[in-house]
Amino acid sequence: MNNIYKAHCKGYHDTSLQKMIENYFYSERDRLAGARRILIKPNLLSASIPEKAVTTHPDFVRTVIRILREYTEAELWLGDSPGANFGKYDKVLEVTGMTKVAEETGVHVVRVESFEPVSRGGIVYSSLAEEVDIILNLPKLKTHGLTGMTLAVKNLFGLIPGTAKVGYHRDFPVDTELAAQLYKYFGILGHKTMNIIDGIIGMEGDGPSKGTPVELGIAAASSDAVGLDIAVTRMVGLKDEFCLTTKAAIAAGYDKSHIDVPETNIPLIKKSLSKKVYLPPFLKQLVAKQVYVKPVVLNEKCILCMLCMKSCPVDAIAVINDFPFVDKKKCIECFCCHEVCESDAVGLERSWLHKLVVGK
Ligand code: SF4
Ligand code: SF4
Repeated sequence: MNNIYKAHCKGYHDTSLQKMIENYFYSERDRLAGARRILIKPNLLSASIPEKAVTTHPDFVRTVIRILREYTEAELWLGDSPGANFGKYDKVLEVTGMTKVAEETGVHVVRVESFEPVSRGGIVYSSLAEEVDIILNLPKLKTHGLTGMTLAVKNLFGLIPGTAKVGYHRDFPVDTELAAQLYKYFGILGHKTMNIIDGIIGMEGDGPSKGTPVELGIAAASSDAVGLDIAVTRMVGLKDEFCLTTKAAIAAGYDKSHIDVPETNIPLIKKSLSKKVYLPPFLKQLVAKQVYVKPVVLNEKCILCMLCMKSCPVDAIAVINDFPFVDKKKCIECFCCHEVCESDAVGLERSWLHKLVVGK
């Protein structure tokens, strides 16, 4: 059984973080020593500065790499596919602090899209995952408008090459279905992962990209990604199944009885307000169409980069009067456009009934 290692840290330089990582790596010392090549996989969703808590903090990644070197002589690669924004990878690496981390530590930066996509059981992902012995998965603890939370299982989504990610949203527009598909995908790569979650500064509210940074002081590690996600979800006071990838894992038979982190009822973080609402079936038919959150482009902030259009899985965005415009009837509320816009030019418009049911 894989242990779950936890630390409460006052910051990224707290010695309790280093001790926790050391204990975790020591428990996996044989695996690390035998590895030929390791992929370090932070969350690099977009070109956001570390203080915004969209991406894994560079100090966290740096500490992990420094300690990792003591346990392995493997070649170290670092890479991710940043949302629909994979075309601006160099900028993402620069702004998130990863270019500097790579220069200082000597890790080799790789691009997910440079490796051929492979397909297994209808699941498409980058063959980069096949080239390494271990995926050292370094997620950022964030709430997520679609999947509740983004933690270790969800972070592997970044190994699906650029445009294929959009296809997942198109083919699985319902959030529980998307989460079930993500868990199926995790079933292919999960055995390769070692996972350390950066929740020292996490994100609450409208994550994964437009929420608010929150000091949580949490870091945790395990080679059981689902168990780790459950532990961390409980540490921030939420129910296990609030994280929809966990819900999918439990539905698929994951046994959580060994997890010793107690459940609490005091949420440390604010949930996403844009999250869709689930109603009893009889009510759903009557009012579901009136409970919605739709994106709206704020022309005054828009820099016409068209990333929103490129990221939309159902072509719901077209240029009208020189600016992107969302066709609300086509929109499936995946929030990809909201996620990728780096100018905060995609706002979220909530229906009056959504405000009534979810709260202001
Ligand atoms: S709304 Fe955002 S993503 Fe879309 S074109 Fe404008 S700036 Fe780019
Ligand atoms: S308009 Fe935005 S939220 Fe709607 S389907 Fe397209 S990308 Fe998703």
